[in-house]
Amino acid sequence: MKIAIFATKRYDESSFAQVNEQFGHRLRFFEPRLTSATASLASGYDGVCVFVNDEIDRDAIRQLAENGVKIIATRSAGYNQIDLQAAEEHGLTVVRVPVYSPDAVSEFTIGLILTLGRQIHRAYNRVRDNNFELDGLQGFELRDKTVGVMGTGRIGASVIKNLTGFGPRILAYDLYRNSEIEHLVEYIDDPMELIKQADIITLHLPLMPETYHLVNEHSLSRMKDGVFIVNTSRGALIDTAAVIEGLKSGKVGYLAIDVYEEEGGLFFQDLSSQVLHDDVFARLQTFPNVLVTGHQAFLTMRALRNIAETTLTNFQEFEETGSCQNAVTWSQLKTHGG
Ligand code: NAD
Repeated sequence: MKIAIFATKRYDESSFAQVNEQFGHRLRFFEPRLTSATASLASGYDGVCVFVNDEIDRDAIRQLAENGVKIIATRSAGYNQIDLQAAEEHGLTVVRVPVYSPDAVSEFTIGLILTLGRQIHRAYNRVRDNNFELDGLQGFELRDKTVGVMGTGRIGASVIKNLTGFGPRILAYDLYRNSEIEHLVEYIDDPMELIKQADIITLHLPLMPETYHLVNEHSLSRMKDGVFIVNTSRGALIDTAAVIEGLKSGKVGYLAIDVYEEEGGLFFQDLSSQVLHDDVFARLQTFPNVLVTGHQAFLTMRALRNIAETTLTNFQEFEETGSCQNAVTWSQLKTHGG
């Protein structure tokens, strides 16, 4: 199959080129993100492969369909960047990688909690400056905390399993109970109740209309003073402006995020020589109790290999059968809510 792979970095090219030796697809790598402005690059390709910050809106989809593209494959689990309704209307199949390594994201989530909770990010900078003062670096132990895990799918379940070794009380919330980890947690049916009781809240829900700005002024007001919020899921689960107010008032004691609601124009590129125009992001960076990483929780060797394998298998299955078991459709989403 002739495939245009968008938003590629060196690590994508290397993992896809290597894994493609078993498949023999014709791959072309494009550095730009797929948006309505770049969709014409896909002219003459059967399929496109996209990533989390591409913008596959109605206009981009119309152009893809007009240019003969039949399938959009996102090399991610989340697919909120694709207008599924427009894809269905234009007869385009959308596929994803439902699971590639939940442990990659889970281990990173725990890394963020430990780093910020033990002030390792500040200690690193101090020691590099020959400042060996410990004042201000006091941390806490997880066994003394209640962790609230919102979303107990693949990643949330892995976080729960990995957390148990540290001994915290673990509360969990999900629309559906996960029998794999049910014995390790106290499931709470009301998300507001979890929010009220947890010292640390970690988000592992997909982004959809029901979960948009789940952390907002109202939910923050219900949280414990000094709450620790972790988000390795999708940026728009958090209303950043409301969290900044929470950080200023002390309501939020710690914020660790790998995703940011306006990350589209920032993440995955080197902007170190430029002036940033996002004042909200700039404000976030001023807090000593905020740790931001640039959407890297997925980035392990195992995950990259699995992503390439599943994506290229998705294309092959579609080429051979006209359908794919990893397809996501608008009708499905409407019926099952994601
Ligand atoms: P999953 O589908 O296995 O789990 C999601 C869980 O959320 C499911 O158990 C589902 O029942 C639950 N859920 C959905 N809507 C809900 C609602 N409204 N209320 C309560 N529960 C709800 O997904 P996963 O593999 O665990 O991934 C979770 C999210 O992590 C993805 O959607 C993606 O956005 C994000 N992610 C981030 C990275 C990264 O690099 N930072 C990498 C992979 C995935």
